[in-house]
Amino acid sequence: MYRQTIQDSRTTGYQTAINNQFVNMSTLRFKAVEVASKRAPVEIPSPGQLPSEYYGTYVFNRTQMSKYLSKETMNIVLAAIDQGTTLHREIADHVAAGMKMWAIEMGATHYSHWFQPLTEGTAEKHDSFIDYVNGPAGGIIERFSGKLLAQQEPDASSFPSGGIRNTFEARGYTAWDPSSPAFIIDDTLCIPTVFISYTGEALDYKTPLLKALSAVDKAATAVCHFFHPEVKKVYSYLGWEQEYFLVDEALYAARPDLCLTERTLMGHESAKNQQLEDHYFGAIPSRVAAFMKELEYEAYKYAIPLKTRHNEVAPNQFELAPIFGETNLAVDQNLLVMSLMHRIAAKHHFRLLLHEKPFAGVNGSGKHNNWSLGTDTGIGLFTPGKTANENLLFVTFLVNTLMAVYKHNALLKASIMSASNAHRLGANEAPPAIISVFLGKQISAVLDKIEESSEDDDITVDELKKMKLGISHIPEVLIDNTDRNRTSPFAFTGNRFEFRAVGASANCSPAMFVLNATVAAQLIDFKAEIEQKMKKGMKKEQAIFDTLRIYIKASKPIRFEGNGYSDEWKEEAACRGLDCETSVPVIYDAYTSPQSVEMFERIGVLNEKELHARNEVKWETYTKKIQIEARVLGDLCMNHIIPVATEYQSMLLDNLFKMRAVFDKEKADHLSKEDAALIEEIAAHISAIKTNVDDMVNARKAANKLEDAREKAVAYHDTVQVYFDIIRYHVDKLELIVDNQMWTLPKYRELLFIN
Ligand code: ADP
Ligand code: MG
Repeated sequence: MYRQTIQDSRTTGYQTAINNQFVNMSTLRFKAVEVASKRAPVEIPSPGQLPSEYYGTYVFNRTQMSKYLSKETMNIVLAAIDQGTTLHREIADHVAAGMKMWAIEMGATHYSHWFQPLTEGTAEKHDSFIDYVNGPAGGIIERFSGKLLAQQEPDASSFPSGGIRNTFEARGYTAWDPSSPAFIIDDTLCIPTVFISYTGEALDYKTPLLKALSAVDKAATAVCHFFHPEVKKVYSYLGWEQEYFLVDEALYAARPDLCLTERTLMGHESAKNQQLEDHYFGAIPSRVAAFMKELEYEAYKYAIPLKTRHNEVAPNQFELAPIFGETNLAVDQNLLVMSLMHRIAAKHHFRLLLHEKPFAGVNGSGKHNNWSLGTDTGIGLFTPGKTANENLLFVTFLVNTLMAVYKHNALLKASIMSASNAHRLGANEAPPAIISVFLGKQISAVLDKIEESSEDDDITVDELKKMKLGISHIPEVLIDNTDRNRTSPFAFTGNRFEFRAVGASANCSPAMFVLNATVAAQLIDFKAEIEQKMKKGMKKEQAIFDTLRIYIKASKPIRFEGNGYSDEWKEEAACRGLDCETSVPVIYDAYTSPQSVEMFERIGVLNEKELHARNEVKWETYTKKIQIEARVLGDLCMNHIIPVATEYQSMLLDNLFKMRAVFDKEKADHLSKEDAALIEEIAAHISAIKTNVDDMVNARKAANKLEDAREKAVAYHDTVQVYFDIIRYHVDKLELIVDNQMWTLPKYRELLFIN
């Protein structure tokens, strides 16, 4: 047993943290606790400069472009960024030359197309700038052409593609996305790209996002023209809030479940965790503060405008958030921040946990996606205005969003669902696995007023002005946090919506492309309806008002102001016809429902083939995650838990025998009756663990025989993961009984408190 567990610790690199060759695991646990508790903050050098002085130095942004590109080239690139015009090869050559010069001056020797495959995180393949001048005899130079900037063919056939690229068409290529600036990591120039198959299908997260953003721009601009003909472009904005946990690396390494699954598969609740609410917004521990400072320093160099940092609700849980920005860029920045966080955490002897639920019984981690739309003329489309016209515009976008979320609530849920986020959603502190919208009292009252107005009312501009009374003071009122329902998965917060169901480890892209796509499709329908009514002779304002009234009525089931955590809501939501499915693999079906396929195809974001292929990948990923968890849980039970419990049990038995040797039988039995009871209790738990692990293994074997990806994922959900909680229950009971000195795995009370 000990050899085996030492093997575990070697593979996790813990060897380097503790130079102990053959310790047993419980010694390892106490060593880890000791190392962690004595750890001092890592000294970080002071930048000696204000953030504004080093902000963006690692990014080929507008400032750098103006230094390294001709004015003419720069203008063409900016037009491509702002208006989405195509860049010609010749221009790409100019940009590549400037970019190379900048990168080499910054110390880069390599370049890489940086893309977002359907796995988690990002992918990169580095190539050196070096090339022969004139064959091998001619020496080498640094070369980087427009062709290399614009397009690459990474041999990326092992990325999941859901079967889009079979062996005959295994090639996929990456193509430059000029709207997200290139940046330097270490010695490598990273170029944000899309990743598509040779037949044009999206193999990544960025491609559908860019298409959805373009669709919402077009659709929203057209609707804006009812009010402001001068609007040329509508931007989608995203401000993410990233929650995360930190754990000391020594403790992390002594928990094979954390190392291999990013969450604790067992562990009894600590007597004290978050019940005193003393962590939230409390003083940040000095080791963590050092980590945060270094992270901010690095993030600023990448022009990521981190603004907020604080403790979160659970012990060891924290949050950071930047100033919001254009959605495509904000998504890339979030991915970059997540990788920076991992690297910098390691430097500070922490491990970063982005898993949505690393610890049972305390809050999980989300990534609230604050989302809004705004025009190139500076109008926030979800910002209540001061005039009747502005308010009608505001209500138009608000109500169309309600309608989109209502129609596609199942799809929106699918967009944020994963094996790990499933642990957080529906648990008692996170948004439930039902999508609803919270508007707050004031906005609800405005919509109610519109809804109640009679269809025959001829709404005049004067009457609209009266509504101003109801709307114009809203921004002030909403600043008051008491009107912010924390239990809602999709809440209006004064000038934006907050999509809170997104998971901490997720790429924001699916949530954002689904949301922007559904709103785009909805706005197209809305515009068509208005035009129809106007053709029939209705005045524009009247047509808009009339349509909004119908929408408000129709979308009512999605509005919910009550407690989203309550059981009554689950019942009521089902009655309202909202999607209440809780099985992750089944939730993904929403991507390929006729309604979703029609919507995605109509606005050109994804076609049916792509949607099916992407679901295959999701099911496979789900299966693999549960499979790994099941294996780790089984191993830990057999290698750690049962041996330790048996050892303790035999100590008790030993005691019992000795009692009988010293005292007469009756007295001995009387004196050791608690021990005897414990022995039985331990035996019962051990037996339950053993039986359930065996059953789980058999369920896994049966599931593995299934060929179909969806069927297999469903089987893993229905027949394998159901054992996790049962097994855990018995393990956690044993943790309470067994001698603390013998227990091998660091306990919650040790993992969850950074000194
Ligand atoms: P809270 O925790 O109170 O919800 P935070 O300040 O932590 O708020 O985060 C709010 C996020 O919302 C920030 O990233 C902020 O920049 C962003 N945000 C603010 N206004 C908008 C907007 N109009 N559109 C999109 N995001 C916004
Ligand atoms: Mg928020």
